[in-house]
Amino acid sequence: MTQILVVEDEQRVAELLKRGLEECGYLVTVAFDGEMGARLAKAGSYDLVISDVILPKMNGFELARVIRQLNPGMPILMLTALGTTDDKLDGFDAGADDYMVKPFDFRELTARIKVLLKRKQHAAREITTDVLVYADLEMNISTKTVSRAGIQIKLTPKEFNLLEYMLNHPERVLTRTEIAEKVWDTHFDTGTNFIDVYINYLRKKIDRDFDVKLIHTKPGMGFIFTSQP
Ligand code: CA
Repeated sequence: MTQILVVEDEQRVAELLKRGLEECGYLVTVAFDGEMGARLAKAGSYDLVISDVILPKMNGFELARVIRQLNPGMPILMLTALGTTDDKLDGFDAGADDYMVKPFDFRELTARIKVLLKRKQHAAREITTDVLVYADLEMNISTKTVSRAGIQIKLTPKEFNLLEYMLNHPERVLTRTEIAEKVWDTHFDTGTNFIDVYINYLRKKIDRDFDVKLIHTKPGMGFIFTSQP
């Protein structure tokens, strides 16, 4: 269930938001000042924050900054009675994703909420594609870590790049020339022996201790990354 944190000191507006959003199927928590909002944001796992700008104890811009430090991907929608361009820019500087001026149309608000949530989901999906998986081998591009069958494997940067290229092009023959060009960014018409050296380093680390070998030599052609040679 999608959880929304509403930070709004005007009781009437807060209740209107809570009731309306709950009718749309969202789980809503209300904070009546900025500090309470920050506390709840730290403790809970919300999918989106709707915040007023003028709030007791901590204003909405400060709150947005705190939330951004905590969770850079958290969608924040600002609500305010102020509507000048400068206020808008302040809100975006503080990390608000969207901005609505009170009094607002509730249908427009829910439409914007949907857009923000969809954008967040999309971003989350992009993060998960940072992990390349083949058989029991896993490579995390963001953290530069590799594991096989859950066992961490330490690779040098060059070995990592070579394996990344192979993981992105599995089950087809990769020639030495292609590897030299794509991984080393150089053209070696002759003397691609160094690639065999690196392939052997990689084999020792990712294949030697495992029954299923992933890197295979195709004599006279190159290498193939596959669990079913
Ligand atoms: Ca207010």
